[in-house]
Amino acid sequence: MAKQAVRFSKKKRTKYRFQKLKMCKKCQRYSVLKDDTCPKCGTTFVGMEALVKSIFKSRLLTEAIWILIIVSIGIVAAPTVRTLYYSLISGLVFVVSYVVLTSIFIKSEYFIHLKKLLRVDLKKIAIGIQYDSELAKKDVKEDRLAPAYEKLREIGDFLYSDQMKIRRVMVLNDISLRSDMELELETLIPSSYDKDFVKYALEVLKINRTLITKKCIGYFINHRDAIVIDFGINSLLTVAGMTLRMKLYILEFSEFIEEFLDYFPKERVLRLCSILHANPEMEWGSLEEKTNRLVAMKYHYDPDFKRFSVGDEVVSHV
Ligand SMILES: [Zn+2]
Repeated sequence: MAKQAVRFSKKKRTKYRFQKLKMCKKCQRYSVLKDDTCPKCGTTFVGMEALVKSIFKSRLLTEAIWILIIVSIGIVAAPTVRTLYYSLISGLVFVVSYVVLTSIFIKSEYFIHLKKLLRVDLKKIAIGIQYDSELAKKDVKEDRLAPAYEKLREIGDFLYSDQMKIRRVMVLNDISLRSDMELELETLIPSSYDKDFVKYALEVLKINRTLITKKCIGYFINHRDAIVIDFGINSLLTVAGMTLRMKLYILEFSEFIEEFLDYFPKERVLRLCSILHANPEMEWGSLEEKTNRLVAMKYHYDPDFKRFSVGDEVVSHV
């Protein structure tokens, strides 16, 4: 099947995850998707922050009314003019201190209300996300892959299950990937071997090598046998080559690199040599020795390797 050419819209970034949550007051349903209106009834969603603020405001109003009632009772029930003044003054002091204290603790009060709302509505939120997920499933069924992926991407910020990751990966595998797309890799790594994930990882790394991370290399090493069976040894060789992206990765995965060193293209060996020689103070272990030997054997007469000037001394030992 031909891959679908699509364009993703930019992912909405928020400081806190809860800021993506919103609610349709009419359906009493939460959603994490980007839509501004409820797909069920068309009502505009209310953001979590606005929801908390409205709860907070109504609590403040209730408290203010209570203070007013107590002060009024004090005034009405005052037997003398003096006690009436006392009631008025104490009422005033109380209101001022209430306003001052509330404004000092307004931020923590806000978070207390937010936490309470999240706790009370946890089940409702889960049901809302489940509904969002059904909408994404419908998009996939009807071959609308871009909106399906965008929905799953938002839901993925709240659900970290393998099932959710694989659903995203399977949609991505039917899309023709481009380097200008906002693609992820590390966040999609499942907890066990998954052929669809490896297929996606190999594809996405072809267009964006910078997505390779320690966790990703570790995944390829841990599941190497299954990967070789499904994708051939070259897939591991590619990943080993990409491990040279960072000095720290080379140190961490030096054994893995050593295994494939003899099969690296010249450009990868050159890169490895430059990193090793630029950092002579680091403990490279047997990787350095093996690299030097390879250069002496294979690239002895290559001018590109002259600057490392290791050829002669190593050759003399071989
Ligand atoms: Zn609604």
